[in-house]
Formats: sequence, structure tokens, C-alpha cells
Amino acid sequence: MDEFELIRRFFRTGEQAAGVSVGIGDDGAVVTPAAQRDLVVVVDTLVEGVHYPEQTPAEHIGFRALAVNLSDIAAMAAKPRWMTLALTLSEAREEWLTNFSAGLFAAARLHGVSLIGGDTTRGDQTVISVQVIGEVHPGTALTRAGAGAGDAIFISGTVGDAAGGLSLLQQKSGPNRASDTDAALLSLRFYRPTARVDLGLAIGGIATAAIDLSDGLGTDLDKLLQASGVAATIERERLPLSESLMRTFGQEQALAFAMDGGDDYELCFTVTAADTKRVEVIAQRLDLPLTRIGEIEAGSGLTIKNGQRRPWQGGGYRHF
Ligand code: ADP
Ligand code: MG
Repeated sequence: MDEFELIRRFFRTGEQAAGVSVGIGDDGAVVTPAAQRDLVVVVDTLVEGVHYPEQTPAEHIGFRALAVNLSDIAAMAAKPRWMTLALTLSEAREEWLTNFSAGLFAAARLHGVSLIGGDTTRGDQTVISVQVIGEVHPGTALTRAGAGAGDAIFISGTVGDAAGGLSLLQQKSGPNRASDTDAALLSLRFYRPTARVDLGLAIGGIATAAIDLSDGLGTDLDKLLQASGVAATIERERLPLSESLMRTFGQEQALAFAMDGGDDYELCFTVTAADTKRVEVIAQRLDLPLTRIGEIEAGSGLTIKNGQRRPWQGGGYRHF
């Protein structure tokens, strides 16, 4: 199978996508945003062995490659519209490609995103880059800057699950008293992150700042604090932990995963004290837990309250 057959068979769906006047098959794609919108552009790369274990099922790789990008789009309070895919493969295996594209399009359908182009090359290692283009009303994109002293800090869902799941998959740590159900649930939290796109859109006009949790709560919240030029105190006991994580690893390890483990792809955002009620309304409407974990303060640095107050020491994932 050559490159062009590969594209035609696995990626050129033939669907007439909204806002696309030239799609896959030409030198470039041509898209038309809705009237009066700013574009938000994100890209994220998955490298086999670095971002996912080599034995990861291809369908999960496809899903995840898009979901991590949708998470960035969500953190900007944008509506995802189109994506491009740059694929480097050592060989064109039909079964792998079938499953990979099924996972990719499953994530795409959940959020109405269409594939408008890409690039396909051969290389020693599997490398997948997905770029997503989203829309926002001008001036309404949410950024990491903007949190002010007195704001409340919220996170969505539960944290630490993906790190727990990955650790079970790698059988690195963990007592392995995981039940099959807990193990399946936690590993799916790693393999198939839920991008909080609806939440991003809902907090767009309310939140003062936001970031998605890809590298770990401590690391990512610290980035938000630096971008906003503020400090924060969070309470360790308030971190939302899933039953599965607690049962499998116990409270201490679960809290460590929650603080320093990456890959959760939940949103962390801040709102003024006056707007905390509106966050409760959103939580109910989306049927998604939104937990207040601490407060923004003047100054710099992240403090963890756990009985006593301790400065956050670092942790989380860094490539270099
Ligand atoms: P060019 O040589 O002009 O860059 P290619 O011949 O590489 O274009 O690609 C042909 C068409 O297929 C282009 O429209 C490109 O966007 C699209 N394409 C290539 N690889 C992929 C892919 N993995 N997924 C989706 N579209 C792709
Ligand atoms: Mg060209």
C-alpha cells in the first residue's frame, strides 16, 4: 500500500464537512470560520514509548492523539472545528491503521471535528502530531494569565487516575490489589482522556484563567500562577480522588498521583469569589464534579496545606 492509498483508505472519509471548501487531496485545506471568530490553534505530538507504552492498542492511540489536543482547545474556551494529522510510521500495517483511524474518528465525532489534511511519512519510530483549529468569539479566549488574589481555584473530575492507570499498565508500582474493574477504569483514564470541551465553553465568560492538566496538578497550576503573576494555597485533602484510585493505591499514593501524575486532562480554572455559585450551576448542568481546591493569593509560589503549610517542591513530568 503506498502513501496515497493509505490516505484514501484510512483518512479520507469523503464526508462533506462544515466550513471546509477544500479538504484532503489538495496542497492545502481551505476553511471558513463562522463570521466574526478568532481562531485558536494547538498542536501536540505523541511519540511511541514516550507518550504511551509500546503495547498500547492502536485505537486508544488514535483517540488519545486527538483528545490531548481537544483538551488544550477546551482550556482556551474554544469550540474545536478542524484538525490535521502528521503521521510517521515505520510500516503501513493495515490492522494498526484501521484501529488507529477508528479511535481518531471516534474522538472527532464526539466533538464534531473534521480531518482536513495532513502528512504521511516513513520513519524508525511512530510519531503522531495532531493539530486542531478551534473558534472563539473575538477577545473571549481563556488564557493562563488573569487569575487575581481572592479568586477560587477549581478542578474538574478526579485527578491522579491516569497516573495510577499508567502505573498499573507498566506494573511499576502499586500493590496490584487492583480489581479488574478498577484496573480497567484507571487504564482507560490514561488511554482515553475525556477532553472537557463543554466545560471550557461553559466557563468561557466566567473564569479568570484556565489550564488543562497534562503534566500534573502541581506543575500545571504553577504555570498558571506564573502566567498570572500570583500565588496560591491549595488543600491536599480537597483534591478529588476517584474510588478506584483510592481502593487500588490507598490515600497517600493516590494523593501523590493527584499532585504529580500527569495525563489527567482535567481543567484547572479560577473564578472570582462572587462567581463560585455560577460554577456550582455549571457542575450540575454538565453533571461533572467541579471541586474548589484552594485560593489565589498575592505574591508568588504554590503552597500545599496538609495540616501545616509547605511550599510545593516540584514533581510532574518534564521532557528535558
Ligand atoms: P503534498 O505533497 O502537497 O504535501 P501529499 O501528497 O503529501 O501533499 O498529501 C496529499 C493530500 O493528503 C494532502 O491534501 C494532505 O493534506 C493529505 N494527507 C496526507 N497525509 C494525511 C493524513 N495522514 N491524514 C489526512 N490527510 C493527509
Ligand atoms: Mg503540496
